[in-house]
Amino acid sequence: MKILEERIEKDGRILGTNVLKVDSFLNHQVDPDLMMQLGEEFYRRFKDQNITKILTVESSGIAPAVAAGLQFHVPVVFARKHKSLTLKDNLYTSTVYSYTKQTSNEIAISHRFLNDNDRVLVIDDFLANGQAVEGLMDIINQAGATLCGVGIVIEKSFQKGRQLLDERGVHVESLARIKAFEDGKIVFGPDEYEQNH
Ligand code: 5GP
Repeated sequence: MKILEERIEKDGRILGTNVLKVDSFLNHQVDPDLMMQLGEEFYRRFKDQNITKILTVESSGIAPAVAAGLQFHVPVVFARKHKSLTLKDNLYTSTVYSYTKQTSNEIAISHRFLNDNDRVLVIDDFLANGQAVEGLMDIINQAGATLCGVGIVIEKSFQKGRQLLDERGVHVESLARIKAFEDGKIVFGPDEYEQNH
């Protein structure tokens, strides 16, 4: 998606060898107009799937997930990372290793918000090694719901998440795909694995 790639080029910052900081428009400060455009694009790509629910993980997936929910007119559920007094029983849970924080978190969704009639679209801000999406897939399985697709704002195609999901036959749509960070520059496009399959 050209407008997203341009924004990443303009405002994204590369940290170390493989982390992209996009906190000025996606996951700290949020650009709502851009979010709406992302939501429309997710809708265009998944509108034939009879989606009944959108799932994401707090907190950075919430903005694009709600933007997509506005287009599909379905509820958006975000997995919580911290149990609270109001969220402790009747939960689906899974353990997710956080790529950026390098710690494991338990994520949880209440039984009330996901069931075996649901056709689910998973949305997240980044796809790196696929751990967050795998945790949500685990929860979708526990609920007996159907995973219809995964929508990602920024895929880092040089990490193993995309390959892992492709091997499982999951329909993944990424609005921007980064092939590499080279000499401080962002190179867009699918990686070599993708080109050969
Ligand atoms: P994965 O679970 O696919 O390994 O990583 C995805 C999660 O880690 C996303 O939900 C996102 O919050 C975080 N993440 C992974 N890579 C990056 C990155 O390059 N930049 C930022 N800001 N977050 C990332």
